[in-house]
Amino acid sequence: MAISSFHPPLRTLMGPGPSDVHPRILEALGRPTLGHLDPLFVGMMDETKALLKYAFQTSNELTLPISAPGSAGMEACFVNLLEPGDKALVCVNGVFGNRMIENVTRCGATAIRLDFAWGTAVEPAAVEAALKEHADIKVLAFVHAETSTGALSDAEALCGLAKQYGCLSIVDAVTSMGGVPLLVDKWQADAVYSGSQKCLSCTPGLSPVTFSSAAVDAIKARKHPVQSWFLDMNLILGYWGEGGKRAYHHTAPVNALYGLHESLVMLQEEGLENAWQRHATMHSALAAGLESLGVKFVVAAEQRLPQLNSVYIPDGVDDAATRQYLLANHNLEIGAGLGDLAGKVWRIGLMGYSAKPENIRLLLSALAEAMS
Ligand code: PLP
Repeated sequence: MAISSFHPPLRTLMGPGPSDVHPRILEALGRPTLGHLDPLFVGMMDETKALLKYAFQTSNELTLPISAPGSAGMEACFVNLLEPGDKALVCVNGVFGNRMIENVTRCGATAIRLDFAWGTAVEPAAVEAALKEHADIKVLAFVHAETSTGALSDAEALCGLAKQYGCLSIVDAVTSMGGVPLLVDKWQADAVYSGSQKCLSCTPGLSPVTFSSAAVDAIKARKHPVQSWFLDMNLILGYWGEGGKRAYHHTAPVNALYGLHESLVMLQEEGLENAWQRHATMHSALAAGLESLGVKFVVAAEQRLPQLNSVYIPDGVDDAATRQYLLANHNLEIGAGLGDLAGKVWRIGLMGYSAKPENIRLLLSALAEAMS
């Protein structure tokens, strides 16, 4: 059978990620591949770490991209910080909180689950009550920007509670980085992971992570080796550590890292505050347009993520047929609902390069046409 080359159409990606990849990043991906221990590549790795420190707003030494998607960043945080017998308090207000519980139990640790209604933020008061009730919690884990619902939680308050009650925080910042304020040092967050394919507008498959000195101390004090060889931060450090002396650990995804580097250079050029403001401005324009079409938001305005807009599918409108219409007629992707919200909502992303006026105009006109 003769299979020919794959040439995808140019879609407009306004779902929950991946977002539209900027042409500068696509161009960077096609640059000549270097050996992964080539001194020029090693220099680029050091720059990538410095750029990630800016994106995370941290001076944490242990800040680097894991060579795998956001779920691997999540797993890296859990397997390094938790040991068999430990307890973690996990806040669940959507799909990704549930995935955190899976990670905790697979570490041989106990997950204490704290549920919140989908479409609402994690409530610090409820978290504080649970921290008071269970004295020996090692890790407090929560999702900053819940992509399955579009709710933004108060990471500063939650990380503060973790410090106050003597535990480490694990923060899912996959959808928050670059889209809303994420201030790792100011908030004293301990282990934070993100993803390349959301507000950084890079291709999927890389997960920036950062660990505080308290998290590093906990990793060094472990009694059991980290059960994952690939995600053991002690070993990864030998490859990504300072000083240019790199021990082979795995073959870095060289060209994918060119893409991440370019996306971070672009974030630095725009400036973090400007990027946050752009997402907020685009969200307001989209929200006004959707409301004029009679489309209602799932999340209350003060807890809403600008970069992920969950809206109820209007009565009498066919979910799958509408999304298929947008794809077939306008090359436009929006996201379906996940988990408890499947079939009830659409998720409209305004992430990174996708957060621009022409995308909003396209979405509003195409959606009005599809629903007419
Ligand atoms: N956490 C959140 C909040 C996400 O939105 C996602 C992906 O959408 C993940 C974790 C997992 O990331 P990935 O799909 O890159 O493995």
